[in-house]
Amino acid sequence: MKVLIVEDERSMALEIFMFLEKAFYLVDLAHTAKQGRQRMEDNQYDFILLDLGLPDDDGLSVLKEAKRICPGASYIILTARGDLEDRIRGLDLGADDYLPKPFSLLELQSRMQAILRRKSGLNDSIVPLGDFAIDLNKRVVIYENGEIELSRREFDLLSYLLLHKNRPLTRLQLSEHIWGNFSDDDYDSNYIDVHIKNIRKKLTAYAPVEWLQTIRGIGYKIKI
Ligand code: CA
Repeated sequence: MKVLIVEDERSMALEIFMFLEKAFYLVDLAHTAKQGRQRMEDNQYDFILLDLGLPDDDGLSVLKEAKRICPGASYIILTARGDLEDRIRGLDLGADDYLPKPFSLLELQSRMQAILRRKSGLNDSIVPLGDFAIDLNKRVVIYENGEIELSRREFDLLSYLLLHKNRPLTRLQLSEHIWGNFSDDDYDSNYIDVHIKNIRKKLTAYAPVEWLQTIRGIGYKIKI
């Protein structure tokens, strides 16, 4: 899950950065509108956290432009408390949520998870999947009363497919959002296949996983 933080207050940006990295997100930082724009042009983000008070441009026009460059991302705007008008305009411009500063990092994370669930049509953080259930908050796969251990990357892959359920995702899309950027030389679609194979192996020891489908010539999808 790739996140861009656009925030000129460096200590706050770094704090969010470290927190999200620990929570298994891939995080990029930008301290100006210009840097932010550059990052957006070079990457496909799942989330963009955008401070509205940037030194080199008006935050709302950055948001407008960002929505055009990264239409697939979810947007949370970060505003100074009291900037009610900005918040409303931000939401009108298509931000998914806003957080007045100062905010708690745990609240940020739970808002991000709520946006993901809303967008993927999942009502709960525990999602039934065949004979299994996936707990997106605790990052575990549940079978009957036990938990099945997946590696960090395996879980990232499974949950990314789940959050985009019923849609085939290419190996390149999966690599970019789970491993970060690849140059064409480094890119090896094998990574994804090996991890899928491992997931299937670990889970089919308990029950069939026909919901995890290979789409020939494209990649993978989770069918619910
Ligand atoms: Ca600021």
